[in-house]
Amino acid sequence: MPGTTPTLRSHLDRAREYLGTSGTEALLLLKTENRRYVTGFTGSAGLALVTPPEALLAVDFRYEEQAAAEAPGWTVLRGGRDPLGALAAAVGERKPRTIGFEAEFVSYAQVLRLREKLAPAELVPLNSVDRLRWVKDAEELAAISRAVEIADQAFVHMLEVLRPGLTERAAGVELESFMRRAGADRVAFDSVVASGPRSALPHGRATDRVMAGGEFVTLDFGAQCGGYCSDCTRTVALRSADDQQRRVYQVVLDAQRRALDMIRPGVPCRSVDEAARSVIAAAGFGEAFGHSLGHGLGLEVHEGPRLSPLEDAVLGPGMVVTVEPGIYLPGWGGVRTEDDVVVTADGCRILTRAPKELRVVLG
Ligand code: ZN
Ligand code: ZN
Repeated sequence: MPGTTPTLRSHLDRAREYLGTSGTEALLLLKTENRRYVTGFTGSAGLALVTPPEALLAVDFRYEEQAAAEAPGWTVLRGGRDPLGALAAAVGERKPRTIGFEAEFVSYAQVLRLREKLAPAELVPLNSVDRLRWVKDAEELAAISRAVEIADQAFVHMLEVLRPGLTERAAGVELESFMRRAGADRVAFDSVVASGPRSALPHGRATDRVMAGGEFVTLDFGAQCGGYCSDCTRTVALRSADDQQRRVYQVVLDAQRRALDMIRPGVPCRSVDEAARSVIAAAGFGEAFGHSLGHGLGLEVHEGPRLSPLEDAVLGPGMVVTVEPGIYLPGWGGVRTEDDVVVTADGCRILTRAPKELRVVLG
């Protein structure tokens, strides 16, 4: 396909390989991240259909020019007001007997509509289409690394900004605007800024609460660059940290270290989770670590594979995951530390470089 970049060609190859194992004759991609991954088209709507010999992308009027420019090698079906109609016409000529779709993403109403329009092709629900995106290539890793670097810089900046008397909301605004100024296309998700007892909330959004000395503040934030996300968490202490705070912080750090030391190809994701969990349990905080250890990271901030007791997958080279143990004690506060890592041929490379030892911010 002339004009198609090597990366996009390989993503389409992956989609075709997946198609080959799916038992269907065509693969329909509606989820933005999957469509973008395979086509290169960054618009918010469109229908991509992969068959062994063809790659069709149906878009509405808004995206006709953009799709042609961003998805070289794809046959762009100019759908005007009815891209599904355009795709249906193409499907009618080609007559695939079966079309696989993203069962975990497409709504029931959409399925009914697709079934009606694409008949007599049979629509087949496929699980785990997202797995296409689990292993990242060099170009994707470069985008993630850029997003990680911006998050790292943002944390160092926040060490200068955080002080008793500041509200969580003001800290959040500064954190997010820093990332935009540093070159992020956008923030990857709504930042968590949780201070004092609120740091016991794993996903506490910034409020008007005023931070005070002697408290923990947890920041969980990420940048998005070229569609790819970073995801970083750090907990800092304001003015001072007592013995219990230092102890809890160290347990979380030890748990993360244990997990990072285990990450390499062939290791079950659930074993990495278990490694961190056992450190926290041995310290007496087993009940206080209620979420899974981490998740895949890419075009979505939360994707597969999960580092979770419920994950069946095994780590492989090129996967990018977060490692984020935490301890949350209601009424007292909490600590979480989160790094982004890429699985290499014989271990892992930690992308996140934000300082990790407990920082006591004097403000
Ligand atoms: Zn996070
Ligand atoms: Zn995360």
